Amino acid sequence: MKKFIGILVTALALGQSACQPTTKVKVSEEVRAVHDPAIAMDFHSDTLMYVRTLHYDYGKRHHLRPYFWDPLLTQVDIPRAQEGGLDAIFLGFVIHPLTEKSGHCYPDVLAMFDTLDRVLKQNPKTAALARTADDIERISGEGKIALLVGLEGGHMLDDSLDHLREYRQRGAAYLGIVHQHSIAWAGSDQNPADKDIGLGDFGREVVQECNRLGIMVDTSHANEKTFWDILAAAKAPVINTHTACYALRPHHRNLNDDQLRAIAQTGGIIGIIYYPAYLRSGLTGTIDEVIAHIDHAVKVAGVDHVGLGSDWDGFVSMPKGLRDASQLPNLTAKLMARGYSTEDIHQILGGNMLRVMREVEARAKELGGT
Ligand SMILES: [Zn+2]
Repeated sequence: MKKFIGILVTALALGQSACQPTTKVKVSEEVRAVHDPAIAMDFHSDTLMYVRTLHYDYGKRHHLRPYFWDPLLTQVDIPRAQEGGLDAIFLGFVIHPLTEKSGHCYPDVLAMFDTLDRVLKQNPKTAALARTADDIERISGEGKIALLVGLEGGHMLDDSLDHLREYRQRGAAYLGIVHQHSIAWAGSDQNPADKDIGLGDFGREVVQECNRLGIMVDTSHANEKTFWDILAAAKAPVINTHTACYALRPHHRNLNDDQLRAIAQTGGIIGIIYYPAYLRSGLTGTIDEVIAHIDHAVKVAGVDHVGLGSDWDGFVSMPKGLRDASQLPNLTAKLMARGYSTEDIHQILGGNMLRVMREVEARAKELGGT
């Protein structure tokens, strides 16, 4: 019901008639009955970058092109998230992805927070900022989308823990320790020549300050040495927000089985990415490959440690069946067809992440943070 209210509110907020033909993805009533009551979450989408740079309107419904490749990168907006029964979205803050030099990121990170504030101000009836698991449940209960902040790359700190504290005050929910380029205190998986760069002393301080502040630590994009160093330094569950399984697709962005198990042992979670090239060889794919990676992660890490990290709006092609946020019920339909129980589906859609957030929040309190 709350989803229906949310969609109605969205339609009214956009000044549209609620009687307009629906564009809801077609799934059975049985699938809707499983999907709609869940609190569904997506751990990573890059859309805010386009809101900031291209003035993409996050509150307006956009339409996918009929072909798979969409140069306008329009995979998520609030109306389509509500149509897809998506309750919470972690917005990736992407800053200078091509250079990523520490030392000059702070003003751009603040500009991203300002962009998010504008989105929230423009969409008060359909979206709200969430910092905690309780926030997500409350906002979702009001029929709104909960928006969260995912910082993608430690370069954004400009080597300052004060910046990290300020980012938390403004809502940062997780920090990806490194992005596409290695920094002085963490190695990226992007360049094989950096494979011996691990987490430096300051990196360990960053991980522990994140734990104290209740910011989740994200190992996405970290090389293997840095990955293990992060796990050794962490005092709270560790997450990996958008990646896939190396056993099915050997790619430097993916996690091997030892890494999947290790994330689970921290109490953390792996968000399966939808980008086809990380799921199989080739630039296009289908939802079935996403399901295969979910299956594998569940088999290795356990069903309590797997979730969804689409990376929508991070790539121009997404798999058939999951090309935008409105199509999320297709994933529930596939999981049901694979024999997953309603309870397990709800855990994968978002319940697992709520648990991880609560554990990280409790740990922060124990460590004397907020
Ligand atoms: Zn990424």
